[in-house]
Amino acid sequence: MPKAPNAELPKSVDPYRLAEQNSTLEGTIPLSGLGRFREAVLGFSENAACRVTLSFYMDSERRRVVSGELEAPVELECQRCMGSMAVTLLSRFSLGLVTSDEQARQLPNELEPYLTDDFSADLWSMAEDELLLVLPPFPLHDRNECPAREDLEAYEPGGSAVPPVRKSGENPFGVLADLRKTKH
Ligand SMILES: [Zn+2]
Repeated sequence: MPKAPNAELPKSVDPYRLAEQNSTLEGTIPLSGLGRFREAVLGFSENAACRVTLSFYMDSERRRVVSGELEAPVELECQRCMGSMAVTLLSRFSLGLVTSDEQARQLPNELEPYLTDDFSADLWSMAEDELLLVLPPFPLHDRNECPAREDLEAYEPGGSAVPPVRKSGENPFGVLADLRKTKH
């Protein structure tokens, strides 16, 4: 059992030191503390928090790596009925710590670069970026639960809409870029 999984995750850490110590951090981040994320979703309950597990370690090539798992309960807007739908966002990611673009280019494909050159990392911002990447672009209720289904069935007999699911490793930078574009 984790020791204190409900404690708030520290904001700022030295990820290089934690990697050298093979450390794991567990904790929560109040979703209300993530401003960009808050703007990207329909809402969440007052005390909703993202559960975070971060493992810092050195891989066999002595790269410093942060592997993370996130779980966050949010409400998104169903794009069929425009109503609220409860979704638990899940994210798994592996970041390679780099101090330059040159190092970032040398990372293997399975590691996303995390650029930090002053031996500090903002863990809340790191988690927020990863949550934004797993937001479904076109959230839809399950068909049987969607209040708009009867309207649809009138002209879509036998059709079945399956919500698209994005895998977290799929073109993350493109997705983030698109999000930013649509926010402004
Ligand atoms: Zn719906």
